[in-house]
Amino acid sequence: MADSDRTESASEPERSALDTVLDASDPLAREEQTFPHLSAEMMARVARYGSEERFAARAPIFSRGDRNVDFFVVVEGSIEAFDVDEHDQPQVFLVLRSRQFTGELTLFNEREALVSARAGEASRLLRVRRADFRRLVSTEADIGEIVMRAFILRRVSLIRHVRGGVVVVGPAHTADTLRLVQFLSRNAYPHRLVDTEHDAGGDGFLDCFSLTAADLPVVIAPGHRVLRRPSLAQLADDLGLTETFDHAQVFDLAVVGAGPAGLAAAVYGASEGLQTIVVESMAPGGQAGTSSKIENYLGFPTGISGQALAGRAQVQAQKFGARLALSRAVVGLDCDEAPYTLRLEDGQSIRARAVVVATGARYRKLDVGGYERFEGAGIYYAATAMEADLCGGEEIVVVGGGNSAGQAAVFLAATAQHVHMLVRGPGLAATMSDYLVQRIERSEKITLYPHSEVTALAGDTSLRSVTWADRRSGEETSRPARSIFVMIGAEPNTQWAAGCLDLDAQGFVCSGARAGADADSPYATSRPGVYAVGDVRSGSVKRVASGVGEGSVVVQAIHRFLNPAPV
Ligand SMILES: Cc1cc2nc3c(=O)[nH]c(=O)nc-3n(C[C@H](O)[C@H](O)[C@H](O)COP(=O)(O)OP(=O)(O)OC[C@H]3O[C@@H](n4cnc5c(N)ncnc54)[C@H](O)[C@@H]3O)c2cc1C
Repeated sequence: MADSDRTESASEPERSALDTVLDASDPLAREEQTFPHLSAEMMARVARYGSEERFAARAPIFSRGDRNVDFFVVVEGSIEAFDVDEHDQPQVFLVLRSRQFTGELTLFNEREALVSARAGEASRLLRVRRADFRRLVSTEADIGEIVMRAFILRRVSLIRHVRGGVVVVGPAHTADTLRLVQFLSRNAYPHRLVDTEHDAGGDGFLDCFSLTAADLPVVIAPGHRVLRRPSLAQLADDLGLTETFDHAQVFDLAVVGAGPAGLAAAVYGASEGLQTIVVESMAPGGQAGTSSKIENYLGFPTGISGQALAGRAQVQAQKFGARLALSRAVVGLDCDEAPYTLRLEDGQSIRARAVVVATGARYRKLDVGGYERFEGAGIYYAATAMEADLCGGEEIVVVGGGNSAGQAAVFLAATAQHVHMLVRGPGLAATMSDYLVQRIERSEKITLYPHSEVTALAGDTSLRSVTWADRRSGEETSRPARSIFVMIGAEPNTQWAAGCLDLDAQGFVCSGARAGADADSPYATSRPGVYAVGDVRSGSVKRVASGVGEGSVVVQAIHRFLNPAPV
């Protein structure tokens, strides 16, 4: 297979799944960035971190599902990367030759490898073991940059070509299917959805695996494994997304929540030498990860998708050695004795000397009959490329007058047939940034309904129509909308910390002077060594930049707590 078969330009939504890193408008440049050749001088430096090994032709190097795979560079010969087809036959999709190297993002964490590799012919390879690989990328900055860029581009390519991925089979507009697809997308795991609403036979999968509608949604994983209606924790475990760690270990710092604030705390904590673990119930990115485009974050004049930002931050945290426990919710904090213990929903626990609470907020819901029935089956709280795909060409309803509702309306208007935007107040000006108000007013595909509220949702297994009323006249409007985006604010995720930390009347964590502690930090809570940052903190500014700022600077206070100055 020709090397050039591997690359093609990605569409914008596909790119945003992780990151484009660079302007890759030149396909040859992009090819060389994704599968670079190290210079002879770089090869000599890499050799100091590893040792040369000989592999016979077709000898296995690593297999899909292996954890802790090493880094290999071809000295002479070649490495073939392959997937297996439905007959368990290897399908080689990439050949690496002299001075090219293996690996993608799993080299920065302990997740399972997504593809297998073998020697193409009798070959001499440089093997760099994982611990030495980390030293290599942090010490040899120029090589580290080439490797990091290549790894991110390779993951984007795996997602685009659904290599090393899974197939989800199920009706696209149902809550269960959406939950799985959202989880895979937000964790940048390659996947393909076969929508049984449009393809009753599920592309042959239903017959092939003797599946009925009651089994759906299913995830078809490598080795013909069929996961019927899996929970997110089961899916994460089965796909090797969950990192294994020693539960007896006492971490310096446990960060709860991997939104912008938590990821920033992890990057600064780990880069400053703290043994850091991040526990996240869903996927990195938090609320920001659901934003189609953040336009006010410093340094990104053309905007950046929340997922791209989160993808970069996650890799950065892992590069510095932070551990990530994903799809594991913290359900309690034992704070009466040190070190603190975080109790996880799967019954496991994590101990840490200091804790950063960065669990942010969750969306408010509408008070309308049958609401729960349509959650995930037509009701959405985020507008990313995935939701835009699902409701392309349809009429949709957006509820809310804040910036997130405005961004969603503008973004979705590009693909939807029409956007009906409902606000309870007289208009948008008081609640939304001016640039969004102007775009909404100028768009022919968005109609604003002031003084309006939703009065009915109707449908069967999924939403089919939305009705709203003008609060002044009582006049009702119904539209055949299959998707409604509810963006009316959020409440804090702090139930798990109640009884341990002082919360304000709305449930946000009190910190600094509000916590009444002898706080030397505005982020210190009522418990020594427990800090709150980002949206979850009482009185915080609810923005990506402020969350990132708080997560970064709180680490100074943690150092002072862990290493108090002698008196
Ligand atoms: C659609 C949308 C668009 C937005 N656009 C912008 C914008 O353009 N500019 C801007 O500045 N801001 C924007 N915001 C606001 C911004 O995203 C938030 O202020 C920011 O994400 C807050 O970061 P955080 O880390 O404090 O919390 P969050 O982002 O809420 O992250 C908290 C994380 O904690 C996890 N978590 C919760 N409970 C638990 C638990 N018990 N155990 C483990 N993990 C848990 C959650 O899954 C989540 O990942 C937007 C928000 C939304 C929803």
